[in-house]
Amino acid sequence: MKKLLGWLVLCLGVVTFVAWLAFTLSPALQDAVFAAGARRQLARQSQLPTSDDALRVLLCGTSSPLPVRQSAKACALVVAGGRFFIVDIGPESTKNLAIWRIPATRVEAVFLTHFHSDHIGALGDLNMQLWAQGRSRPLDVYGPTGVDRVVAGFNLAYSFDRDYRHALHSHGGDMLPLAAAVMIPHPADFVKPGDVPSGRTQVVYDQGGVVVTAIEADHRPVSPAFAYRFDYKGHSVVITGDTVFNAGLARAAKGADVLVSEAQAHHLQNVMASEAAAIGQTTLASVLKDTSRYHISPVDAARLANQAGVRDLVYTHIAPPLVFGFLKTPWLRGVNEVRPHGVTIGRDGMLITIPLDGSAVRFSQLDG
Ligand SMILES: [Zn+2]
Ligand SMILES: [Zn+2]
Repeated sequence: MKKLLGWLVLCLGVVTFVAWLAFTLSPALQDAVFAAGARRQLARQSQLPTSDDALRVLLCGTSSPLPVRQSAKACALVVAGGRFFIVDIGPESTKNLAIWRIPATRVEAVFLTHFHSDHIGALGDLNMQLWAQGRSRPLDVYGPTGVDRVVAGFNLAYSFDRDYRHALHSHGGDMLPLAAAVMIPHPADFVKPGDVPSGRTQVVYDQGGVVVTAIEADHRPVSPAFAYRFDYKGHSVVITGDTVFNAGLARAAKGADVLVSEAQAHHLQNVMASEAAAIGQTTLASVLKDTSRYHISPVDAARLANQAGVRDLVYTHIAPPLVFGFLKTPWLRGVNEVRPHGVTIGRDGMLITIPLDGSAVRFSQLDG
């Protein structure tokens, strides 16, 4: 028996060696193997289910500005009526969207909550990705007062890029039309910079049964800052952007099925700040401490969810990063007393499905 096993191992070794040798020496075999892999990759379909009508949120970025290898910065994709809406587009989030094969032609618009870099950093990249995949009209970008300046800046920064790509790929025809390569800003000016936030609202998009309402959030001194509410066929989701607890925001989120709220565990952030100070990183220590002033804690987000009467609360923009699973316990400290059920910590690739028949909200996870 032992002898037979020895022969088997030897045979396997010889076969592997011959295959490796053939692959190394034969360009034709290399190309055939590569072609098989490439076809498989290219044929991959979007991982988003499209067979049923539902209101969905895909978390395409769940980290705060602190770097985490497995998480992109702020990004949420709302799917309603077969159309896609992107709320914030932080750095690295476009990689997630590309890996999950989000069909570019279905992206209807981008909604920016505010202009911190962790919420807008990949806007130029997203615009290029969607255009290069065949978008035939400019990309609409909604946001607070100032979105026109942000969009103009990205349009200018990418002007060489779109010219280069148009010159190579248009073939003198209408492939990658330059007129479609830019973004168009849609500022909602019902909140003026410096206004004291009170949860005022304005409908900023209303088409095909999808209503998007901008809600004044409180991220001062960042002002104005918005949350967004998406209503579709009697169901709704609210995405907070960055904010502290605000009664007006709770009112505007009233009755939503799902609240996707940013959250920062201030008690842990302060420990990080102390540790940074202890090793002489005084600037970082000071910055880390400041952030507690304009972010909501997990406990306050739970209070917000309760006041709004939402079915499910999903945390995003997680700070500090939960690099180990066991850190969820200290991160959620105090939440259970406020809200024992309907609390989920979001992660990149989490797909939240709100069925239109009123049945329970479902959670699943996209690959990769
Ligand atoms: Zn912010
Ligand atoms: Zn942020």
